[in-house]
Amino acid sequence: MPYPVVHLMFFVFCLSSPALYGFAKTARLEGVHWTDWWYLMLLLAIGGFCSLLPDIPAVWNNLLYGTMEHTMAGPVPTHSLLFCSLAFIGVAFLGQLLYRNRDKAIALGTFAEAAALSHLLLDDVADGAITYFYPFYNESMNLFSYVDVDLADVNFMYYNLAGIVIVVFISCVMLMTLVSLNYLGFGIQYRPFKAKRPDAESEYDKYSVTSGSTRKGMYTSETEHGMKVIEADSAEKRQ
Ligand SMILES: [Zn+2]
Repeated sequence: MPYPVVHLMFFVFCLSSPALYGFAKTARLEGVHWTDWWYLMLLLAIGGFCSLLPDIPAVWNNLLYGTMEHTMAGPVPTHSLLFCSLAFIGVAFLGQLLYRNRDKAIALGTFAEAAALSHLLLDDVADGAITYFYPFYNESMNLFSYVDVDLADVNFMYYNLAGIVIVVFISCVMLMTLVSLNYLGFGIQYRPFKAKRPDAESEYDKYSVTSGSTRKGMYTSETEHGMKVIEADSAEKRQ
């Protein structure tokens, strides 16, 4: 088991780094309100806590019994997909109270779930025995040990399938983190290599989302002939 601070730093500085970059860029170029900083801190606190969730029994076991036992919460193995789903359920409920919006609550829950899964991922890399599929399969397993074999020792198909499972697992955790953060306003924007239309820039303004706010300004609309024209923000124009 890696130290708790490693779990926390792995989730915040590795998996969430694109969002941190996007926030820093917006703060430097456009400035952000102090409430945005608190929003960022709140998200990182939630993610940090959930990245430690599977080891949380160590806290009460240390206080009550003086041990660092951290793999069981009663009869339930904490390093399992079932236990990690508590992160999604608990934080999505919290998100519903905070946002009063079901979609954002689900995004926050997904962010928390990704944090908890990142714990399993890191423990797996460190040769930890993980009971992924409790209660359907109660034997502990270690995915990374399956790919740490010589090609000659195993079936070629098995060798590649084991590698694909690892890649899919890592990709899922990364995508859950980045997509949920992007939905909550933390993302980095892609600019196409070559803009084909002169009004392309204005479309970026229309769709770009930085720190949860949509930029106002010029945008395009389609005429009856299918031509794109640039208009000022009509809402402001009418006022
Ligand atoms: Zn652990």
